Amino acid sequence: MIYFDAHCHLMDDSVFLAAQTGGVSSFIVNTTRPDEWEKAADLNKRLTGIYFCAGIHPWYVRDAYPGWQQHLCAFLEKYPQSMVGEIGLDKKKPFFDEQIYVFKECLKIAARYNRQVHIHCVGAWDEMIECLSEYRDVLPLFHRFVGDEFIIQKLKWFNAYFSILNNRYADIIPDNRLLVETDSPDGLKTPAAIPELVRNMHLDVDYLYQTFREFLGEL
Ligand SMILES: [Zn+2]
Repeated sequence: MIYFDAHCHLMDDSVFLAAQTGGVSSFIVNTTRPDEWEKAADLNKRLTGIYFCAGIHPWYVRDAYPGWQQHLCAFLEKYPQSMVGEIGLDKKKPFFDEQIYVFKECLKIAARYNRQVHIHCVGAWDEMIECLSEYRDVLPLFHRFVGDEFIIQKLKWFNAYFSILNNRYADIIPDNRLLVETDSPDGLKTPAAIPELVRNMHLDVDYLYQTFREFLGEL
């Protein structure tokens, strides 16, 4: 059985190694600020099974210093395997106009370099769909999805994938678009929790892994 964590963050090497001992072989490591990007690339060099992303999280748009876009482009050129994330919109947090600007810039760059995007969206689905409509070429993964069936229907236009960490939405997300995550260290504490999560949700491990590899473009 091959387990994966479709969304987590930078953590100590020992956390990933412990999860691998428990059968979780792959992890998508998201970043929230530019100073984390190279740390994620370093993690990928040290350990196996690390996929990584460069992004500016909507909570940290104030960390977007002048010239960050060129920095992101240079990073994606240097690391052709890097994806873009964590990016998105969060209406519960301040600086919403800046969030929209940074998110659109990230989408534009992801589209230019043809990279998957890992998205955080809280309470901003109208704006989200408007932004994605401008950049239809990017493949989005909505992490820790919180929405309803109507939103899922709309997001099908964008071939969206969804990752979840409890079974609240498992029934309404199409099977071939469903992934699992821990959002460690902020969600569930460690990616080692994935096998139990999959068991509790009665999901098919092999099918999940196939969906994961399809999202990554490996199949
Ligand atoms: Zn996250």
